[in-house]
Amino acid sequence: MRNVIIIGSGPAGLTAAIYTSRANLQPLVIAGQSFGGQLMNTTDVENYPGFPEGIMGPEMMQKFIKQAERFGSEMMYKDVTKVELSDDSKKVWVGDEMFEAKAVIIATGAEPKKLGLDSEEKYWGKGVSSCATCDGAFYRDKVVSVVGGGDSAAEEALFLTRFASKVYMIVRKDELRASKIMQDRVMENEKIEVLWNREVKEVLGDENVVTGLKLYDNKNDAEKNIELQGMFLGIGHMPKSEIFQGQITSNDNGYLEVVNGTYSNVDGVFIAGDVNDERYRQAVTASGSGCMAAIDAERWLEAQGN
Ligand code: NDP
Repeated sequence: MRNVIIIGSGPAGLTAAIYTSRANLQPLVIAGQSFGGQLMNTTDVENYPGFPEGIMGPEMMQKFIKQAERFGSEMMYKDVTKVELSDDSKKVWVGDEMFEAKAVIIATGAEPKKLGLDSEEKYWGKGVSSCATCDGAFYRDKVVSVVGGGDSAAEEALFLTRFASKVYMIVRKDELRASKIMQDRVMENEKIEVLWNREVKEVLGDENVVTGLKLYDNKNDAEKNIELQGMFLGIGHMPKSEIFQGQITSNDNGYLEVVNGTYSNVDGVFIAGDVNDERYRQAVTASGSGCMAAIDAERWLEAQGN
């Protein structure tokens, strides 16, 4: 029986690992096969305090892991497949292997949303992407699109103008949801054209490459195809909370809820990072809540007489 199992290895999970290992709780971190969270798909992180020159996302996560291991965190690079959290002994499965702990910290994060089209799946990684910072450089002098009208979509569109000759922003309403400063930057950029009231009906392609999009104009009830080579998604995120549903309470969007600090509705289970946070979604806020979850877990264990 372990003291703590931490599920997830983004800034929240790894900060919880640093704190619980320094408290001598020897946590097991089940990091996932694609460990490190969303910062692994980012280039420059310029807003994490302490790095005045910025740092690459993957490099930063490697540093987090090194720091967690320094104090005795045990890392396991596999995916959790099932949990049973209601008993005093919390059970966590990785395939057929079962691990038990007195406390569990859930820090599984969130992932980008998809449109749900068959053609989107067909061309995924072949012209369809959810990560402009990862794939933008493949579209030098090409025409691309970004779907969405929030800050993520605006940020992606602006980033893509570094490479692409033209960037269409495909917005389903007649307004952007992005912050005023991002809206201004989008409107001022000559490479960006916003297509208002448009919905993507199909990704068009030829063998293994994207050649265009079929768009529905919901204002004029008309359909039109446009030619381009890439489609990026910027339509928000979904929490990675599926395996906890039915055990940990969540809101309508699937985000796990905390009842007090980082305490969940289940005794001994704590929640940190984007899996709970629909609002801020920053590395530094995720880290902060990972620290809070570790302190809550440590005090809770102590109160249980451990
Ligand atoms: P948001 O939920 O803010 O925006 C999602 C956008 O995608 C909306 O325009 C929405 O349209 C559109 N959308 C959603 N689903 C679909 C769909 N199926 N088809 C077409 N369009 C769709 O998500 P973000 O990821 O942009 O931002 C989340 C939070 O993170 C916000 O608080 C944001 O401010 C913050 N953030 C801040 C950044 C920064 O400050 N640099 C960068 C990135 C995010 P509709 O408006 O019609 O619902």
